Amino acid sequence: CGIVGYVGERQARDVVIEGLRRLEYRGYDSAGIALVQDGALSTDKRAGKLANLEKAIAEHPLPPSTTGIGHTRWATHGAPNDVNAHPHQGPQRRVAVVHNGILENFARLRDELERADHDLLSETDTEVAAHLLEAEVLAGADLTTAMQNVCRRLEGAFTLVAVDAHDPSRVVAARRNSPLVVGIGEGENFIGSDVAAFIEHTREALELGQDQVVTITREGVAVSDFDGNPAEGRRYHVDWDLAA
Ligand code: GLU
Repeated sequence: CGIVGYVGERQARDVVIEGLRRLEYRGYDSAGIALVQDGALSTDKRAGKLANLEKAIAEHPLPPSTTGIGHTRWATHGAPNDVNAHPHQGPQRRVAVVHNGILENFARLRDELERADHDLLSETDTEVAAHLLEAEVLAGADLTTAMQNVCRRLEGAFTLVAVDAHDPSRVVAARRNSPLVVGIGEGENFIGSDVAAFIEHTREALELGQDQVVTITREGVAVSDFDGNPAEGRRYHVDWDLAA
């Protein structure tokens, strides 16, 4: 229901949790976070309010990291519990993904993965995207190419945001029939399901078009279509007042 992504110089944990708090007004049933550090993913995800996630992180601190993603879930497939909360990961814990929307063809993709001996742990439609993305990355694709390749196979409505444990330099997102906005900073960039996710950090925004993939790094933002052709989002300045 709410999505945040960050790469920059600050603690991603703080930026992601603050962003999720700004998105709480949308309503949700679970919350989760994934951070990249030293070639590994650190994740935590909890049913219930964001406060449950914050309490869990306070008790079991996540390592420092400047690359991360976060999610507040409004369950469509699978009960609102810790296992079904996002992020979801591939079997090697190499790629983590958060998702807003519904993957209409997830059952077919799930059958295909299970025939290839993938164990899926949750009841969500989302987890297939994590397994497919990780398989692409393990086969040698960078995360941007992996996202393009996987998105061409997905049907339905999705905003997806992913990180690769071996590539802390980037966060990659994609959208179809579901909103996705980039916040453009200096030495840092943001992803949000809406601008509230990053409005306290930057008012320069880039709205992604239908069927686009975006890669953010500290230095910049690159947009493509699902076939990998360069594309452009719509740049704008957010001038509404920040609510207290
Ligand atoms: N369909 C996904 C799920 O049920 C994502 C729901 C959402 O948009 O939060 O987990």
